[in-house]
Amino acid sequence: MKVLKFGGTSVGRPERMKSIASLIKDGEPKIVVLSALSGTTNALVSISEDLFGRYQKNALEKVAQLEEHYRVFVETLFSTEKALKQSKAILAKQFELIRDIAEKPNFTGKEERVLLAQGELLSTQIFQTYLEEIAYPSVLLGALDFMKIDSDGEPVLEYIEEKLQKLLAQNADCQTFITQGYICLNPRGEIDNLKRGGSDYTASLVGAAARASEVQIWTDIDGMHNNDPRIVPNTKPVAELSFEEAAELAYFGAKILHPATIHPAKLYNIPVRLLNTMQPEAHGTIIANVLSHTENPIKSIAAKDNIIAIKIKSTRMLLAYGFLRKVFEIFEKYKTPIDMITTSEVAVSLTIDNPSALSTIIRELEYFGTVEIDKEQSIVCVVGDLVAENKGVVNPSCIAQRAF
Ligand code: ADP
Ligand code: ASP
Ligand code: MG
Repeated sequence: MKVLKFGGTSVGRPERMKSIASLIKDGEPKIVVLSALSGTTNALVSISEDLFGRYQKNALEKVAQLEEHYRVFVETLFSTEKALKQSKAILAKQFELIRDIAEKPNFTGKEERVLLAQGELLSTQIFQTYLEEIAYPSVLLGALDFMKIDSDGEPVLEYIEEKLQKLLAQNADCQTFITQGYICLNPRGEIDNLKRGGSDYTASLVGAAARASEVQIWTDIDGMHNNDPRIVPNTKPVAELSFEEAAELAYFGAKILHPATIHPAKLYNIPVRLLNTMQPEAHGTIIANVLSHTENPIKSIAAKDNIIAIKIKSTRMLLAYGFLRKVFEIFEKYKTPIDMITTSEVAVSLTIDNPSALSTIIRELEYFGTVEIDKEQSIVCVVGDLVAENKGVVNPSCIAQRAF
C-alpha cells in the first residue's frame, strides 16, 4: 500500500485533476490524500477574517466568487450530464453550509474551523465523482471518520490506526481510496485541522497508520531544493535526504513540507518521496533512513522568518541549579515551543515563533532578571555533512580568496 498526497496546485485546475487521475490509475493499492484546490483555503481564511470583523457583506461576496470558481471548474472537468449534475449537487450542499455559517450572527473559532474544512471536502468529492465518471473504482473515506487530534493539537496515532484499519478492512476489495488532507476531529468531537499545509502531515499519519511502503508528496516542484526557490535563483533538487535532515529543513522554513510530516514516517521507517505532478518522470527527493553523502557538504539551506529572540540576563543563574527548568516551565505553561537556545553563566537566549502569549511570558520571566526582546529575526538552517567533530586547520589562502 502506498500513500499519495496531491497538493493544491496539483488539483487546482481541471486538466491537472485529470492528470492525477491518470497517475493513480495503475491498479496498485493506494490511499490518495487531497488538499483543497489552490487558493481555496486562503479564500476561506479571508472569509473568516471578514466574519470575525463583522464584515458580513464582504464575506458573502467572497463566498459567491468562490462558488462561481467551482461552478466553472466542474463545468470544465466533467463531460457527462450525470457527473455534472452530481457535482453541482455537491457544490450546492457545501456552499449552502458555508453560507449558513456566514449568515449566522455569532462567528467563533468553532465556525471558522468548519469553514476551513470545506476546501478538502469539496476537492475530494469532486475527484471521487471524476473517478466515477471515468469508471475507475475507488472509495471515498471521510477523514473525519479516522483523523483525530488531542487537546494539545497532536494527532492520536493509535486512534487513527484503529479507525483507518477498520475502514480499509470494510472495503477489502477496493484498491484505491481517496481521503481529505488537513482536516480532523478534536477531542470535543468538532471539526478541526492540522494547521496550514497540514495535508502533508495527514499523508504521513495515514502512511504510518496503514504501515504503507511509501508516502509520496506530489507538488509543483521536483523535490526539496538546495535553497528556497521563491527567493534564491537557480536552485536544484537534492536527490536524497535522511529523515533528520528533511525534518530540520521542514521545521526551519522549507515550505514544501509541513514541519511535522517526517515524524510519523520515521517512526515506521517509511520512505517519503517528493515528486512533481507537472514532471512525473523527474527523480525528485527521496527521504529515508539513509546516511547520504554529496560532493558539496552543504545539502540545503532553509530560513524561518518572524522569529522572536528573548534574552534573559540574571545573576541568580550564577552557580544555581534548577534555573533553566523554571524558565522552560513558563514556556510550557503557555504552550510556546522554543526553537533554539544558547546559555552562558549569566544569560539565556532563546527563540520562539509563536507570539500569542509573549507579553505574559515576558512578565513571568522578569521575575528572574532583565528581559530583552528582538522581534523580526530569522533562523537560517544549513543542513549537510557538517560534522561537528571535524578538526583541522583552515587554509588561510582559502579565506583570502573568499574575502576578495
Ligand atoms: P502544495 O500546495 O503542493 O502543498 P506548497 O506550496 O505547500 O505545495 O509547497 C511547494 C512550494 O514550496 C514550492 O512551490 C516552493 O516554492 C516552496 N519551497 C520553499 N522552500 C523549498 C525548497 N527548499 N525546496 C522546494 N520547494 C520549496
Ligand atoms: N488546504 C490546506 C492549506 O492550504 C492544507 C494543505 O494544502 O496542505 O493549508
Ligand atoms: Mg503544502
